[in-house]
Amino acid sequence: MATVGIIPGDGIGPEITEATVRVLSAAAPYLSYEYIPVGHLIPGGEHDPLPDAAVAGIRRLGAALKAPLVAPRRTGRIVKVRPDGDRVYPSINNAVRRELDLFANVRPIQSLPGISSGPDLDFLIVREVSEGTYSGIEYRIGDDVAQAVKVVTRGAWERIAHFSFRLAVEQGYGRVILGHKANVLNLTDGLELEVVQEVARQYPEVELQDMMVDALGQAIVRGAVPRAVVLLDNQYGDILSDVAAGVTGSIGLGPGANFGESVAVFEACHGAAPDIAGTGRANPVGLILSGAMMIRHLGDAAAADAVEAAVETALTRVRTPDLGGTATTTDVADAVVEAVRAAAPSPAQA
Ligand code: NAD
Repeated sequence: MATVGIIPGDGIGPEITEATVRVLSAAAPYLSYEYIPVGHLIPGGEHDPLPDAAVAGIRRLGAALKAPLVAPRRTGRIVKVRPDGDRVYPSINNAVRRELDLFANVRPIQSLPGISSGPDLDFLIVREVSEGTYSGIEYRIGDDVAQAVKVVTRGAWERIAHFSFRLAVEQGYGRVILGHKANVLNLTDGLELEVVQEVARQYPEVELQDMMVDALGQAIVRGAVPRAVVLLDNQYGDILSDVAAGVTGSIGLGPGANFGESVAVFEACHGAAPDIAGTGRANPVGLILSGAMMIRHLGDAAAADAVEAAVETALTRVRTPDLGGTATTTDVADAVVEAVRAAAPSPAQA
């Protein structure tokens, strides 16, 4: 019996969390869940949106499923007061990752059969999430000037480069593509390129290709990116994974996971979608597939395969409005659960 953390999130978060937990309960009935409230919208007045107890709870469990959290525009900074100096995070989602030392955000970009009329995509984005322009170092100088600092360190880029090349070897990708802008950001993106080229020499079986991130964006939209691990910094990865998810049919389809050395947090690539919260229109597939990534990470590849196959089956019958259908979040969850059960009847049903 394994226990995982559940962060139900904001906006559509609770709805897609409920859908996902139903699917996981069918596919991996041995799992139990510890709910961990995090975020600005937790009821109860003034509070710390990321209590130390929540961070410690996720760390203790080792794995958690996280629904999206609202990061208020312009006021969503989080400050954690520490004896060795305050830590400032630009948003709650950034704070969750960095408080847990999660450095690699992995977002599989894979077109599902019959969903999108656009090009078929099949690659894996690895996004460095511990630094970059999302380091939280910003200044306002008077009324008319603001500056943000892009932080790039050799240590963080050695770590993410090794992670990416190891993933490419383990999962049979022959190529790592680094997206950067070293022709303009000569020193910051230039250091990323330098470090990734150095690390690449230790993985001769994997080809390294580097591309300007703007050209990479248009290659994604045209379906011209080969099967590869696509390594991006924090901001480029944030933007291009939403673009890529959109090309596959909907931002609501994209799964993801954040990995550290000993903790992993699984979350869809989309946000809290407050515009459709409570309407039943939320597509739960991105979080359901993130749940499949979680059970694969926990060692149950058969259950993960079953969930992924059940999602494909369900989408032939039911689709939420973002995919042009009329089904509700619950309809999709029902159909995925049914397909999981049909593929592997439980002992009680057999
Ligand atoms: P968003 O991804 O929430 O929504 C963008 C558009 O996509 C909206 O029209 C929304 O309705 C639609 N959409 C998103 N997910 C969907 C789904 N599962 N099914 C159907 N439609 C879906 O982006 P936003 O509006 O820019 O952000 C809303 C809030 O979410 C903000 O507070 C933002 O900071 C937060 N956010 C959180 C995360 C995270 O938790 N990792 C990521 C991105 C944004």
